[in-house]
Amino acid sequence: MGTINLRYEDFTLDSYRACIRAAKNAGYTFISYETFPRGEQFVLWRHDIDVSVHRAAKLARIEREEDITATYFIWLHAYTYHFWERKITDLILQILECGHTIGLHFDCEYYHNPTGDNIDDLIAEEARILAGVLQTKIQVVSLHNPSRQMLQNHKSERIGGLINAYSNYFFSECKYISDSNGLWRGDPLLDILREGQYPRLQVLTHPVWWTEEPSLPLQRVIQCIEGRAQQNQSDYEELRNRILGHTSIEN
Ligand SMILES: [Zn+2]
Repeated sequence: MGTINLRYEDFTLDSYRACIRAAKNAGYTFISYETFPRGEQFVLWRHDIDVSVHRAAKLARIEREEDITATYFIWLHAYTYHFWERKITDLILQILECGHTIGLHFDCEYYHNPTGDNIDDLIAEEARILAGVLQTKIQVVSLHNPSRQMLQNHKSERIGGLINAYSNYFFSECKYISDSNGLWRGDPLLDILREGQYPRLQVLTHPVWWTEEPSLPLQRVIQCIEGRAQQNQSDYEELRNRILGHTSIEN
């Protein structure tokens, strides 16, 4: 898989903006899965939201400022956010308002790695739920942490009626780069974009890795977990104060 680059300074919001600018300077067009393939030199720019919609919304705003669009995949079974929470739904709607596309991040393991028609039905059902909540079309799916076997079994261009981001179609046509685990395996994204040696790219980033200041990958995740825990606590305290404020009960 090549060398692992632990360049924490790569994962700041400033560096993120630099990546977008490098891609634009190198002549890449930002395209969506629905319009693939288009032109000679393009990039599919994709985010799997595994941990933080708050961080995703920050990236979405930067992309809007830079006048590019991306596809954001929502995981319905995430344990650090819930797409049906009002605040989270509103953030996802903000991402849509920035002009981006929302896709389904489908968790095979949740369903004990389904196969055949079963997986098609489950993906179609989750896409229907997400489309209903957001009032938008869900046309593309990416698999969350797919096993080698799942990837092997699901290489077709569509699953559950949706475009499959993991289909052979995209992988055979494009150089694939991912920020999995908050590091680069092989050349860092910025270098690849600057050099422009691959005319067709699929770039996967996970918003949790991109922060204001550089820090260790684990620390970036802990910040999100603690931020959510603090929010839960203050929401509860607010509710409690409201209820106690309307009663004469003292404790
Ligand atoms: Zn994922």
